[in-house]
Amino acid sequence: MKITAFNVSGNGIFAVDTAVFAEAIRSCGAEVVLFPGNSRVKRSVAAAAMRASAEIDTNVTDVRIENDKVIAQRWLYRQRIFAEFSRSAKPWVIVVDPSLYGEIAAKLGAEEGVLPAVTAETRTKTNGLEAAGSGGESTIKPDSALLFVAGAGWTKKQADGALHFDEAASTITGFIGKANASLGSSKSLVDMPEAAAAFTFMSHMNQVGQTGSTPRHQKGLATCCHGEEPHVVGWRFINERRAINLDANCGWAQGKADVVYVADAFAVMKKVNELLG
Ligand SMILES: Cc1cc2nc3c(=O)[nH]c(=O)nc-3n(C[C@H](O)[C@H](O)[C@H](O)COP(=O)(O)OP(=O)(O)OC[C@H]3O[C@@H](n4cnc5c(N)ncnc54)[C@H](O)[C@@H]3O)c2cc1C
Repeated sequence: MKITAFNVSGNGIFAVDTAVFAEAIRSCGAEVVLFPGNSRVKRSVAAAAMRASAEIDTNVTDVRIENDKVIAQRWLYRQRIFAEFSRSAKPWVIVVDPSLYGEIAAKLGAEEGVLPAVTAETRTKTNGLEAAGSGGESTIKPDSALLFVAGAGWTKKQADGALHFDEAASTITGFIGKANASLGSSKSLVDMPEAAAAFTFMSHMNQVGQTGSTPRHQKGLATCCHGEEPHVVGWRFINERRAINLDANCGWAQGKADVVYVADAFAVMKKVNELLG
């Protein structure tokens, strides 16, 4: 197995480095290409890997070979899970922590790569102009007085045994628009593939919590969200907290909210939207 290591350091320009690294990955003919994860490399190497049709992993803390298989190791989920993984794609670009680069390259017996000389365009050529359009409406509004949080309950089977994605989507967006509220989400909801198709107005950017954001709004209303600790820590700067949950024993009811409405959020929010006109 051919492993080539490019000991890149110093400063570089994105446009030039991307072209040079891409050519290096392509032309070295290695199955695994190592780079140290310093700021210069990290700025350009992902784009270079894409141009070279390679796959890439960054922040790798160890690489070893076992039964002819390359196994990389890195932290995931904000340093909470330590994972080992492998890829079948070739070339595989592995960007290791810079302080471990020398040790890992030596351990693997990697060949020292020499960056090729490539002439790259450093100025963007304008081929034409096209109006970008107004784009979609943003649901993240840091200046709003109210944070409205949607949880995974909006996507669960309701009392009639059916799913109500469209009704959930229109109720949430209806309220966000009428109350000019900012939209937050629990991790469970943004991680759900089936929700992604129906809830096009939210993304991982909306996730509140330990591994999400910590927004600052005067008030917060959690709906169909259980109030688990990893989610609620993201509420630490929200002053007045209310929640709507069918479960009287949900996390919010255990001292995490000022008011908990034990009720069906579909029904409550429908009524609220009617009252808002
Ligand atoms: C290390 C770690 C980090 C994490 N980081 C985060 C994070 O940053 N943010 C985050 O959100 N989570 C995080 N989590 C996950 C977290 O622990 C919970 O799993 C998640 O927040 C649960 O999401 P949920 O409340 O939307 O869904 P669920 O737990 O499935 O709760 C759905 C709720 O909806 C209610 N419900 C259903 N239908 C209705 C209805 N009609 N009306 C009213 N209520 C209804 C149910 O009673 C239930 O309480 C993390 C977990 C770990 C281990």
